[in-house]
Amino acid sequence: MPTARTTQTRIESEALLLRFVAYRDSDVIATFFTRTDGKIGAIVPAGRKSARRVGGAMEPMHTLHVSLEDRGRELGTLKEARVVVQRFGLVGDLDALDAAGTALRWLRHVCPPRIPEPRAWDTVTGLLDTLDARQHPPRSALAIAALRLLADVGYALEFEHCVRCGRGCPPGKPAFIDAARGGLICQSCGGAPARIGGELRARAADITRGEEPELTDEDAEELLVLVDAAMRAHAGGEG
Ligand SMILES: [Zn+2]
Repeated sequence: MPTARTTQTRIESEALLLRFVAYRDSDVIATFFTRTDGKIGAIVPAGRKSARRVGGAMEPMHTLHVSLEDRGRELGTLKEARVVVQRFGLVGDLDALDAAGTALRWLRHVCPPRIPEPRAWDTVTGLLDTLDARQHPPRSALAIAALRLLADVGYALEFEHCVRCGRGCPPGKPAFIDAARGGLICQSCGGAPARIGGELRARAADITRGEEPELTDEDAEELLVLVDAAMRAHAGGEG
């Protein structure tokens, strides 16, 4: 197996568009999250003119197939993009659209470049499908996917043990929590400004393990505050 890419290669992959920004006079830099290679930035030559050509493909929320020329440098070059899974149900719903945009922003922030993250791919495309099908309230679906996404990329929030001393918190008991520091912090370890109730703590631990408990709107909002703090703390991979 070659250990480094020294020549030009093609990346052919399903992808989500995470960002699309103007670059130089007429080019555009797109940031994709690819199924095979993780997050990759690519120049879209004359992207603003060719926006129609690569077209509908330059909208987030749909799953694309992209063909990227990769010379091992920071940025690849987009050769082709087309939509392979359309999610127009999502586009018509502002709350769903907002939830999808938030998930894609978090994905961009917590994924380092060029590291394949197959579980994160499944989690986020699964969320987009759920939002598109309008099966669940968007904020609740987002909270569940976000806890999973943190676990997928190695930043699972700990809801059952103190992250400092490892001591278990008895089931059903409320606990102090600092999401930026990874989860529960027991009283002996100094506690934390925020608290989480025993029932929600159990549901959050279930979600992190891959289960799908029912969440009330209040549960979802409380979890999303924690998730947002955790995502901010891990937002090193922006690009
Ligand atoms: Zn402790």
